[in-house]
Amino acid sequence: MLCTKCGSRNVIIHRRYSGQYLCKECFIKAIQKKVLKDIKKYKLIKKSDKVLVALSGGKDSTTVIDILSILAERNIIELEVITIDEGIGDYRKKGIQYASKTCKELGIPQHIFSFKKHFKVTIDEIMASKPPRKACTYCGVLRRWIINKEAEKLGADKIATGHNLDDEVQAIVMNYLEGNIENLIRIGPTTYSQKFVTKIKPLREIPEEEVTAYVMAKGLNVHLEECPYRKTSFRKKIGTILTKLSEDHPTILYSTLRGHEKIRKALKKELEGESILRACIRCGQPAARDLCRACTLLNEIGRLEDEIHSNNR
Ligand code: SF4
Ligand SMILES: [Zn+2]
Ligand SMILES: [Zn+2]
Repeated sequence: MLCTKCGSRNVIIHRRYSGQYLCKECFIKAIQKKVLKDIKKYKLIKKSDKVLVALSGGKDSTTVIDILSILAERNIIELEVITIDEGIGDYRKKGIQYASKTCKELGIPQHIFSFKKHFKVTIDEIMASKPPRKACTYCGVLRRWIINKEAEKLGADKIATGHNLDDEVQAIVMNYLEGNIENLIRIGPTTYSQKFVTKIKPLREIPEEEVTAYVMAKGLNVHLEECPYRKTSFRKKIGTILTKLSEDHPTILYSTLRGHEKIRKALKKELEGESILRACIRCGQPAARDLCRACTLLNEIGRLEDEIHSNNR
């Protein structure tokens, strides 16, 4: 097969959802162009924004920093990195080493924060206490809590995360299956609230296999190991089903995303006002109810110490 764009014989990828064959150079250009176009289309970033990339050292967040550094080099935005150490054995230690190397190479300031310092407990310690929920619930909620808090202190205008198309569709399907309407309304290219730093997802329309192909094609320095807790997650199970479905229905991820966008608009009208985020009465962070999810979970496992929150206010 020949590259659909330039006719080269060195094809590295076949996009089954569009029928395109692409060589390495055309593929790299196509990904960068698509991400930069989506940033414009969804108004993710404006000139002079200070963008804080949540960098774990994995393939998704490393791709985000690689592409956003194009805008930083052109002096369109200011770029900094936030890395969270959740305390997951050697897995996270290695990820942080990769993330720090990337920041050093690109000359981007990196801020590292840990669960241990903020919550006096690591994910490994929480899981050793046999809590009622899966690791990813504690990990995701508590990580977002630190990122929100520190992004505000760092004066960031935007927080960029590495969510790709597969991640986004998995979240949509998980929330449908769990009947979580409030979360469904909030899933989108940005999470905007006047009170909190806006989150953006520049890779939201890039399939996971293309993110992997991009890091390979560019030879980026990424941590490819899988988190030891991931195999037990609900998300992983949904991801496996969606990957299987995509084999026979290659456009299914995009059609689920587009379908959700339409439903989201209708739901927003229907539930006007109910999905608005307010401030948690304990810590002041984004909350759908009186207590934010982080305070609710910490309370459940007996770790909601006043000290944690007063120290971080
Ligand atoms: S897979 Fe789950 S536990 Fe592991 S880093 Fe991701 S959210 Fe945390
Ligand atoms: Zn080509
Ligand atoms: Zn709270």
